[in-house]
Amino acid sequence: MNDSIKSVVLSEEQIQERCKTLGKQITEDYNGKTPICVGILKGSIMFMADLVKYIDTHIELDFMDVSSYHGGTESTGEVKILKDLSTSVENRDVIIIEDILETGTTLNSIVDLLKYRNVKSIEIVTLLDKPMKRKVAIEAKYVGEKIPDEFVVGYGLDFAEKYRNLPYIGTLKPEIYQ
Ligand code: 5GP
Ligand code: MG
Ligand code: MG
Repeated sequence: MNDSIKSVVLSEEQIQERCKTLGKQITEDYNGKTPICVGILKGSIMFMADLVKYIDTHIELDFMDVSSYHGGTESTGEVKILKDLSTSVENRDVIIIEDILETGTTLNSIVDLLKYRNVKSIEIVTLLDKPMKRKVAIEAKYVGEKIPDEFVVGYGLDFAEKYRNLPYIGTLKPEIYQ
């Protein structure tokens, strides 16, 4: 699997450093509250597992799985819920945990949906951010690393469902795409 990787974008050590920093910020901002941390499946599982170890205040965990509707090659911005939350978010502080923020269409729809369910507050934490690819006005309050517009895999992120189990984040060799 490692021989498919062209370059390392974030090493295991760098990922842990980002998790530590973000966990500390979240701890300070949510001290005395009990936010619900919502992991977006499946990409966020590793990041969620590592990040929450560095959050030193009470939290609850929940998950959502969504798929984007595609009109042609472009995402339409609508999402279909494949797995919904098992907790009510009404009047709760919610932190969405994402692997990567790209165009923003997926997260924008999720945020709209949860606001409609009358959350008290909602913020996003994403390990990776590709700001150059943004199509809708949405930003994450907590960002691990801003990266250029290159397709990355590993640490939860897939290419055709593979490479999620790679312990670091990297780019694929071009021959893998063919
Ligand atoms: P958005 O709606 O922001 O365009 O889509 C974000 C989703 O697209 C992410 O949650 C992720 O599943 C997928 N995605 C975006 N960029 C990448 C990438 O570089 N690598 C992988 N593996 N998935 C990506
Ligand atoms: Mg995702
Ligand atoms: Mg994917």
